[in-house]
Amino acid sequence: MKKALAPLRVTGRMDRLRALLDSAADGAAVDGLLVTTPANIRWLTGFSGSAGLLLVTRDRAVLATDGRYRTQSAEQVAAAGVGSDLDIAIGGVPAQREALVGVATALGRLGLEADNVSWSAQRRWTETFDGVALVPTSGTVEGLRLVKDGAEVARMERAAAIADEALAAVLPLLSAAADGDLTEARFAAALDDAMRRGGAEESAFETIVASGQNSAKPHARPGDRRIRRGDPVVVDFGAVYDGYRSDMTRTFCVGTAPSGELADVFAVVGEAQRTGVDAVAPGVAAGSVDRACREVIAAAGWAERFEHGTGHGVGLDIHEGPSVGPGSAAILDVGTVVTVEPGVYLPGTGGVRVEDTLVVTEDGSRPLTQFPKEVAV
Ligand code: ZN
Ligand code: ZN
Repeated sequence: MKKALAPLRVTGRMDRLRALLDSAADGAAVDGLLVTTPANIRWLTGFSGSAGLLLVTRDRAVLATDGRYRTQSAEQVAAAGVGSDLDIAIGGVPAQREALVGVATALGRLGLEADNVSWSAQRRWTETFDGVALVPTSGTVEGLRLVKDGAEVARMERAAAIADEALAAVLPLLSAAADGDLTEARFAAALDDAMRRGGAEESAFETIVASGQNSAKPHARPGDRRIRRGDPVVVDFGAVYDGYRSDMTRTFCVGTAPSGELADVFAVVGEAQRTGVDAVAPGVAAGSVDRACREVIAAAGWAERFEHGTGHGVGLDIHEGPSVGPGSAAILDVGTVVTVEPGVYLPGTGGVRVEDTLVVTEDGSRPLTQFPKEVAV
């Protein structure tokens, strides 16, 4: 196992959020933001607990959580460099609310994260913050998370390396599957286990192993189908390291090179993925990366068989901004991390998807996932 990375510092991030308060509510100002999305709280404070509320005003910040996280919250915010930038309120729900209300009563307008707050929660907050105008905001912290700093990229690179090494370790199982005693679920479990042994906190999402006809379903769940010689096998998986995720897909052909139409699908998807990767650069609209992939697949006559977007941002969440899909106007910046994952799925024949996670660099992009793309295993 490689050695741990230095603690991730989040210093300055709450000030970057404060700089957005003047226009956070659809262009209008708020006096503070109640952050309820766990990944946003983590990004701003370093606190990774599953229960927490963060109120950031122009001159204060309060992190409220319960007694389970008394020690962890203090340790994590100190390690992240913001121990003196916020107050921590520990207690049951009433005590947490009281701490937040104490700070919020002076506010005129308080922003809520509309994409995360349910209808019922919104009603509760209205009662709690009686006299404060609650206004919806959307994507404020998420927008700040789009560009990763070096420490974040280093974590995603580590996650990707763990995933690469895990796949290398278990791939012989697939090569030996010609005798039919390896199921999709067993291969997925072996891969998940190898990632954990390699230092992953967990899998980045539920590992996809889709063989034979199942490979034509883009999000098939691994089941008890036995993998056979000649099968295409889509393997889509990632690791989590210090909260940050990786995402990679490789499609293999078991025991032999693919033949017939399936061989063409492998060739076209491989070319589409290379073309998409080459299109990733700073200043480029995410939609044009999607178009680059889509044109290659359309030229082969399979435009209708590429039924999902080309990619997505990755970070603390497996799917975050920017979306890399048709018409996506988001402009890629240096430090943005995105996937490029075109696929072609032919019911009755099989499907192929190839995916890498890339960080946008000054002169294009650098793949974080680096597993070879040889098809026959
Ligand atoms: Zn994936
Ligand atoms: Zn993906």
